[in-house]
Amino acid sequence: MTKLCITAPRPTCVTCDKLTNAVKHYYNDAGERIATSWRKYCGTCHNKRTAKKHGFTRISQISAKRAGLTETQYQNQFHPYLRHRKSYCENQDGRLGFTCNTVLPTPEMLTAAGLQWLPEQFLEVDHIDGNPKNNDPENLQTLCKHCHTIKGIQNGDHLTPGRKTLMNG
Ligand SMILES: [Zn+2]
Ligand SMILES: [Zn+2]
Repeated sequence: MTKLCITAPRPTCVTCDKLTNAVKHYYNDAGERIATSWRKYCGTCHNKRTAKKHGFTRISQISAKRAGLTETQYQNQFHPYLRHRKSYCENQDGRLGFTCNTVLPTPEMLTAAGLQWLPEQFLEVDHIDGNPKNNDPENLQTLCKHCHTIKGIQNGDHLTPGRKTLMNG
């Protein structure tokens, strides 16, 4: 599983060329590191292999199953407002003055790209009033990255105080 490695540098993954992570460092009495045991696989490959053992493609599917949640519910619980994230851009109704036509990547596309991501991770939760602390569900809307950027520009969020001064001056 792991390899004890005293002088060699951090090894690369056996199935790709990424660096692996340390499992444990060993120190002598003087506190100097004398050895390290390394994972055989990089973090990405390790997670993929673990997921595969459970019949999944992403490690978060295992954690979600253990927690009795869907994968989306599982991931969203880490962010108080992401619980309100919908699975589509709400500007499909034209609320920003134009209609969103963004097509999200499919789970198959993401797997083929080697990403352990969900399509909804390409969506963002926008605070309608611009106050990031106002997590009232009424103040939250789901936007794709394009629409979120456009809304920011409409609201002047891209103008830093310095830029505003420059433009006004
Ligand atoms: Zn790897
Ligand atoms: Zn959109």
